[in-house]
Amino acid sequence: MSQTIKILPPTLADKIAAGEVVQRPAAAVKELIENSIDAQANSITVIIKDGGKSFIQVVDDGTGMSPEDASLAFARHATSKISTYEDLENIRTMGFRGEALASIAAVSLVEMRTRQHSDEIGTRVRVEGGAVLETSEVATNPGTSITVRNLFFNTPGRRNFLKGDNTEYKHIYDVIQRVAISHPNLSMRFVSDGEDILQLHPSTSQERLRELFGEKLEQSLFAFREETELAVISGYLGKPEFARKGRTEQYIFLNNRYVLNRSISHAVFQAYENLLEKGSFPMFVVFLTIDPHRVDVNVHPSKMEVKFADESSMYRFILASVRKALSAHDLIPAVGMRESSSNSEVTAVQFAMRTSASGDRARKWEELLQKADHALQPADDKRTAETELSLKHVDSMFTEGNTLTKSPSRIESPTTPGWVPSLWQVHSKYIIVPTQDGLMIVDQHAAHERVLFERAIARFSETNTKSQQLLFPHTIQLTAGDAALLQQLLHFLERLGFSLKLFGKTTVIVDGVPIDVRPGNEGTILQELLDLYKEDDHNLKLEPREKLAKSFSCKAAIKAGDPLKEAEMRSLLDQLFATEIPYSCPHGRPVVIKLSLSELDRRFGRTS
Ligand code: ADP
Ligand code: MG
Repeated sequence: MSQTIKILPPTLADKIAAGEVVQRPAAAVKELIENSIDAQANSITVIIKDGGKSFIQVVDDGTGMSPEDASLAFARHATSKISTYEDLENIRTMGFRGEALASIAAVSLVEMRTRQHSDEIGTRVRVEGGAVLETSEVATNPGTSITVRNLFFNTPGRRNFLKGDNTEYKHIYDVIQRVAISHPNLSMRFVSDGEDILQLHPSTSQERLRELFGEKLEQSLFAFREETELAVISGYLGKPEFARKGRTEQYIFLNNRYVLNRSISHAVFQAYENLLEKGSFPMFVVFLTIDPHRVDVNVHPSKMEVKFADESSMYRFILASVRKALSAHDLIPAVGMRESSSNSEVTAVQFAMRTSASGDRARKWEELLQKADHALQPADDKRTAETELSLKHVDSMFTEGNTLTKSPSRIESPTTPGWVPSLWQVHSKYIIVPTQDGLMIVDQHAAHERVLFERAIARFSETNTKSQQLLFPHTIQLTAGDAALLQQLLHFLERLGFSLKLFGKTTVIVDGVPIDVRPGNEGTILQELLDLYKEDDHNLKLEPREKLAKSFSCKAAIKAGDPLKEAEMRSLLDQLFATEIPYSCPHGRPVVIKLSLSELDRRFGRTS
């Protein structure tokens, strides 16, 4: 069978190319809106019918086109935006390929009305299936209005491929929403089947988010910004406690263009590592601004995919910036604990309470209590045993041979002079903490794990190692695999506080352990640590350093079943709320569960 190669007739080539740019009505809407933005519009109106299948109209108040430009606009590769290859490297406008209008016109019936502000009269152009039917003068408002009817009328394959009206509508809504987020100063109106869907006035970026997502969601976000020579990153990050099951709204804009880029998304997401439970996702809106030379947006006709010149530094920059923002943000819950002495050191718990958004009422209550304390107490009796425990004692708390014995916690009434809210340990597992608006339940193991994890991470970058020398060194026999792993981690283990001597290939002598290791645990901790490290190998993305810190904190932390004295609980809480991320353990499990009074009232059927 002989084959003949045929050059495609131009109209067919156009139809094929059109399919790449305009896959569905939403893509046409996106291109038309981008053109309006490029034309410096302040106001854009989008009107659709039947999910955009039968009717799309985009009206702007931008520059408009001269009669000459108007008749050229529908020719393929007609663009006013680039003319040289250098321009292509330095793209700052939304469109640049000069194929959007041609592609849309190839597969629909288009009518354009346009007028430059300085011109008296406008131009009307009608195109059907790519052929210009008419160019004439018309009286019209300054700016441009483009109407697209019967999309894909001449490509039934495409048309049949479209989803139901609701689905196509949703895609268009998403396109408009993305533009609305990244261009808060733009007036936008969206009408679908005669119904007003959006009516947005120029505003700040935060206002815009509130209008689009509602007050509640806006409150679950906080703003951040980071600037380096490489790039500027800014936007809004969802607080971890508002993360939802399943993917939520995640927006990434590169030079104000909505983009899909796995690497950026992953970097943002990775920064939330250890903050979220498995399967829950944070909302975020991230704006990246970088020199256009460092990024290639000409990867795909939809211009949504981008490639970076230096993907890995970009990744690290984003990861570090988001991490920093998350840890700098006040993620500490309100804790209604106080010390009896007004001149005692401010503990981390108190600090947490004071800096949290607890409101004036709580602060007044606090003042009242302190005044009462002062009046009721003899001056030299102001320090209770609990107040002696401050962060200074933290390190010794679980390490200097403190035996963990059971002691029933006192229940004190708030009227007792020097009252310090009691803590209760239940089932040698959880600590109940009264707070100013309810109570908090803390998982003691998870809490200590979080404390030790952050301390371990800090140790890796410290120069002086803190180690407890053992009077009786332990000799451990390792498997060949474990010995190899030990070699690989040796540097980090030493930083952590292990003092190890290797004999032969598989014998190791432990003559010092990190100070956080509890008495009785010195002989087994190393082997336990290695075992857990190996188990955690699904987490390939983590650096060995973090994995090691995770394994160590898990194994060295107090366990469920360890009874704690009140002083120990208090110290643990102080340490916990001094960490950067007290809400979740290094494995992402929650550390603290809060139960508010209003929740309790609701459950008991009290209505106030
Ligand atoms: P591109 O945007 O890639 O240049 P398009 O096919 O989308 O290509 O548009 C072709 C040209 O038509 C643009 O370069 C611009 O000069 C002009 N144009 C399109 N839409 C508008 C508009 N809404 N206002 C003013 N000019 C427009
Ligand atoms: Mg364009």
